Amino acid sequence: MRTIEHTIGGTRRGSAETLPVYDPATGEVAARVSAGTAAEVDDAVAAAGKAFEGWSEVSLARRSAVMFAMRDLVERHADDLARLVTAEHGKTLDDARAEVARGREVIDFACGIPSLLKGAYTDQASTGVDAYTFRQPLGVCAGITPFNFPVMVPMWMHPLAIACGNTFVLKPSERDPSASDLVASLYAEAGLPDGVFNVVHGDKVAVDALLDHDDVAAVSFVGSTPVARYVHQRASAAGKRVQALGGAKNHAVVLPDADLDDAARQITGAAYGSAGQRCMAISAVVAVGAAADGLVTRLAAQARAITVGAGSDPASEMGPVVTAASRDRVASYVDAGEAAGATLVVDGRDLLDRPGFFVGPCLFDNVATDMTIYQDEIFGPVLVVLRVSTLDEAISLLNANPYGNGAAIFTDSGTAARRFQRAVRAGMVGVNVPVPVPMAYHSFGGWKASLFGDTHVHGPEGVAFYTRAKAITSRWPGPATDAAPSLHFPTA
Ligand code: NAD
Repeated sequence: MRTIEHTIGGTRRGSAETLPVYDPATGEVAARVSAGTAAEVDDAVAAAGKAFEGWSEVSLARRSAVMFAMRDLVERHADDLARLVTAEHGKTLDDARAEVARGREVIDFACGIPSLLKGAYTDQASTGVDAYTFRQPLGVCAGITPFNFPVMVPMWMHPLAIACGNTFVLKPSERDPSASDLVASLYAEAGLPDGVFNVVHGDKVAVDALLDHDDVAAVSFVGSTPVARYVHQRASAAGKRVQALGGAKNHAVVLPDADLDDAARQITGAAYGSAGQRCMAISAVVAVGAAADGLVTRLAAQARAITVGAGSDPASEMGPVVTAASRDRVASYVDAGEAAGATLVVDGRDLLDRPGFFVGPCLFDNVATDMTIYQDEIFGPVLVVLRVSTLDEAISLLNANPYGNGAAIFTDSGTAARRFQRAVRAGMVGVNVPVPVPMAYHSFGGWKASLFGDTHVHGPEGVAFYTRAKAITSRWPGPATDAAPSLHFPTA
C-alpha cells in the first residue's frame, strides 16, 4: 500500500506510525499517511529556518519569477491535482478542478509581490529628514488546514507567505494529504529552494508541536471552530502571530420579491455542492413571508433531482462525505431534526446502505432556532428552512447566530439588499450570490466564531499578516556645526 511521506528540506521521508486514508466513494483504505512526530516537526522547522536565511534575501524579481513558474505548473497539473482531491475527499472532479482554479488565483496574486510590497516614502518630513516605511517577512510560518479544500485552502496561505520572503511548514489534513505532496514537487520544479516549502503530515501531535515551537513566527489555521479557538489561544500564548478561521452556519435570506426559480437553483448548488462540506455552503435558508411555500417546493424538486455517486463518475453531481464518521454524524442530525418536530421534506438517508460514505440531499422545513439541526454546523448535505415575516426579523435571526462567515440575500430590491449588507454581522456577504468567496485580490474571513485573530487570509490582509512594518526616519547631516545638543523630544 502507498505511504504518503513528509517533504522536509526538499527530501521525502516517512514516519514510523501511519494513519489510514480512505477512498470515500468505496469506503476502502486507499493509502496510509505518515503521522508526523514532534521530532519531525522540529526537523521541518529547522530546515525552514535555515532556508529563511537565503530566501528572505532573494530579490522580489526572483520571488515573482518563481511564482509565475509555479502558476504555470499548477495550471498544467490542474487535472492531476483535481484527481487526487476527488480520490481522497470524494467531491466531483469538476468541483475539484474549480477548487484548484480558485487556489491558483492566489498564486496569480502573489506574482505581483513587487507591487504589493512597495513601501511609502515621505521626502523632507522635517528639514533634511526623510521618512519611509517598508515591510519585512516574519520567518518560519506554519499552515494547518482542513480536509474540505485540500488544494485551495493551503494556497490561501503558502503562495503569499513565500512571496513575502518567509519559509513555510504545511500540516495538511490527514484525511486527504496527497495533493500537498504534488504541490511540494511543483514548487521544486518552479525553482523554489529546498526548505522554503515543507510538508509535515499527521494529526494533533504535529499541530501541537508547531503551535509550541519557538522558531515558528506565525500560524495560519483553517478548520472547525473548537480547534480554531484552541489553536488561536495556544499559539498566541506562545507569542506567535495567529489567524484561525473556524466553522460556519451560512444563511440565505429570500425575500418575496426574489426570482424564486433563480434563488432555488443558486441555493441548491450552494447547499449540496461538495456534499455540503464547504465553509461557505448555505446550510440555512430564511424564507421571508410569501417566499416560503414556493421556495420550499422548488428546493425540494431540485434536491430530489441531484445525481449522487462517485466523484470520479462524470454523471455525479454530488459525491460522498469524507468519512464513515461524518456520514453517521449527518444521519444522526437528520434523526434529531425529525424527533424535534421539523418537517423532513427530502430524506437522503436512503443512501446510507450504499458502499462508501454516502448520504443523499436532505431538506427540512419549519425549523426552529432551538433545534440542533439549526444550531450546529452539520457539514453535510442538509439544508434547513426557517420561516419569518419580515426582513428585520431575518436580520435579527442571523445576527443572533454565533457564526458569521458568509450570508446571502436574494431579492429584487436594492434598498433591501443595501440594508442587509450593512446590518448583517458576517464577514462575507452575497447579494443574489450564494457563495460570496472573495476574489484572491480581496481578503477572505468571517466574523464572530468564524475567525479568531485580527486579519483575514489572502489579498491585502494576507500580505499584512505575513510581513511586519518597519518605519525609517533618516537624516544625512551636512558639515558639523558647534550648536549645543538638543535634549527636547524631536518635533518637525
Ligand atoms: P478540523 O478542525 O477537524 O481539522 C482542521 C485541522 O486541524 C486538520 O489539519 C487537523 O489535523 C487539525 N486538528 C483536528 N483536531 C485537532 C486538535 N484537537 N488539535 C489540534 N489540531 C487538530 O476541521 P476539518 O473537519 O478538517 O474541516 C472542516 C471544518 O473546517 C468545518 O468546520 C469548516 O467550516 C471549517 N472550514 C472553515 C473555513 C473558513 O474559511 N472559515 C474554510 C474551510 C473549512
